[in-house]
Amino acid sequence: MIDVQGLCFEYPAKRALDEVSFRIEPGTVTALVGPNGAGKTTLLRCLSTLEPPYAGRIRLDGIDVAEEPRRARRLLGFLDEFFGLYDDLSVLQSLRYWAAAHGIDDPGDAAARDVAARLGIEDRLSERAGSLSRGLRQRLAIAQVIIHRPRILLMDEPASGLDPEARAGLAELILGLQAEGMTIVVSSHILSELEDYSSHMLIVDRGRIVDHAATGARAVPAVAGRQVRLRVVLAEPVAGLEDALSPPPLGFEIGDVVADGEGRMARFEFAGTPRDQARLLEHQIAQGLPVASFAEDHSSLQDRYIETLRKGRS
Ligand code: ATP
Repeated sequence: MIDVQGLCFEYPAKRALDEVSFRIEPGTVTALVGPNGAGKTTLLRCLSTLEPPYAGRIRLDGIDVAEEPRRARRLLGFLDEFFGLYDDLSVLQSLRYWAAAHGIDDPGDAAARDVAARLGIEDRLSERAGSLSRGLRQRLAIAQVIIHRPRILLMDEPASGLDPEARAGLAELILGLQAEGMTIVVSSHILSELEDYSSHMLIVDRGRIVDHAATGARAVPAVAGRQVRLRVVLAEPVAGLEDALSPPPLGFEIGDVVADGEGRMARFEFAGTPRDQARLLEHQIAQGLPVASFAEDHSSLQDRYIETLRKGRS
């Protein structure tokens, strides 16, 4: 769905993206994270066709954005970090304008009213955009970029300025859009919130991708055999836990087992079916391992983010 190969972008005297390559699958929600100045905004602006890369290729749904930017834009909704609104237009007029700009025939303002309701601004339709508070402006901006139901939604810091209730609403909105089949990339520094709705995490540091993986925080829907990280905790320590767990003679593989020093806990990647997972647990118990807990490892995005950046810099 989003395929980026060898992307480089330079500002005068600054290479902001350096040989960036990744693929984002349809129907996923990717948290784009990284320290200040890492290149997140630049990457989103390249994906949205606003910045032409110096080298490399971006394909959205097979469309090369450099060759066919107008076609690519039809697939896209993009919320810029510093978006502008037409302050003299009312909320309804703003939404009508965006509907018209996308060629949507909107009799009775059905699309405009629907999207306003999704963002909780249906009672503000007659207010001037210029008189809205920071958070309400943010909600209007989000409504504008999804009114045409894009297949790909890119959002740069969408939660900034939103109150806690609206942030929870944003998480629900993102999950709802994902359920409708949208592919979503969200940049934010609020990792605890990204965790509520992201299926994947893409970490950028100093213009390079340093990690791209399923988060395990939210599964991609309906994927049998999706990769998860499992965590086994034992009631008492077992010497040589790595060897005791791997490889299971069950006709499927598991990833490298990483145990703690004491032999009480181990983690490994697993990509089998739920039935395979059950067989794996049966096997471990049959081997005599005192399994106290066997579950998906949901270590937080924050832990993984910090761990990855530290590893990359050491
Ligand atoms: P933040 O989390 O602070 O928003 P970011 O990850 O979005 O950061 P970018 O805004 O993409 O980072 O910036 C990447 C690098 O490019 C930074 O070193 C930044 O200083 C530089 N940069 C960004 N915009 C410009 C510009 N217009 N001219 C020159 N350098 C720029």
